[in-house]
Amino acid sequence: MNTTKPPRTTYLAEVVQIRDLSPAMRRISVASHALRALRIELPGQWMKTFFPAPDGVRPIGRAYTVRAFDQAAGQLDLDFVMHGDEGPAGHWVLNARLGDVLSLAGPRAGYVIDPHAGNHLLIGDATALPAIASIVQALPPQASADVLLEVAGPRERQELHGAARHRGTWLYSGAAPAGTSGQLLAAVRASRIDADSVRVWLAGESAMVRAVRQHLLIERGLPRAFLTSAGYWKLGDADHRERDEE
Ligand SMILES: Cc1cc2nc3c(=O)[nH]c(=O)nc-3n(C[C@H](O)[C@H](O)[C@H](O)COP(=O)(O)OP(=O)(O)OC[C@H]3O[C@@H](n4cnc5c(N)ncnc54)[C@H](O)[C@@H]3O)c2cc1C
Repeated sequence: MNTTKPPRTTYLAEVVQIRDLSPAMRRISVASHALRALRIELPGQWMKTFFPAPDGVRPIGRAYTVRAFDQAAGQLDLDFVMHGDEGPAGHWVLNARLGDVLSLAGPRAGYVIDPHAGNHLLIGDATALPAIASIVQALPPQASADVLLEVAGPRERQELHGAARHRGTWLYSGAAPAGTSGQLLAAVRASRIDADSVRVWLAGESAMVRAVRQHLLIERGLPRAFLTSAGYWKLGDADHRERDEE
């Protein structure tokens, strides 16, 4: 088996806009001439984004979803959950300034939408909201989507736009980090799911993803090929990696 992955290009880009979408979600727009060479073809594609390390020696990479990309302008939007000062990404986004320079490598992964699937079930926490919003935007008009999202509270909701019929159910974690309250698993358990025809995309806190994945595959009999899932972060763990989509 050839496991060699194609080399990924690294781009330098400058922060050109900083906008708080909600109390806990900050949109950072970066732009550069070099980014005009980037190709974003799938929703949910992400960039390994490098932030200054506390010791100042080597930048540290974390995964961030491409929420929007304007190729002609060479401008990319990344939406950051402001989860606190812990971690290089968390620290950086709280202190970001116009003109800061990031380096970004990618793009990676992304969700291939099955054009024949009638219904999509999109499940995630706040870290998955940028990907889910991009997937809803990319679904064909004849498709439909049920979206289950856990965010901290009602002020964290975002409008989802797309041509497909979609229905959003928003769950609120309150003081607990979004994705850790157990409500997403409960909501999936309570959902009617046609395991023969649905396609499921699932991401967020790792323990939640594992529990929901097991429920879908084992208790609901969802065929493995109909599920795309990834642990995007893990409570108490820095730079957690667990994904089945690469
Ligand atoms: C493919 C992919 C795409 C992703 N896209 C996005 C995205 O678009 N937007 C986004 O905000 N995140 C996204 N994430 C998640 C993000 O990469 C992680 O949250 C990452 O751990 C943040 O790095 P950090 O340096 O802030 O914290 P780390 O150094 O990794 O961790 C430090 C501490 O912070 C905690 N922590 C990390 N993330 C969170 C969180 N969200 N809530 C509460 N506590 C947390 C950890 O448990 C740890 O205790 C994505 C992850 C993957 C794998």
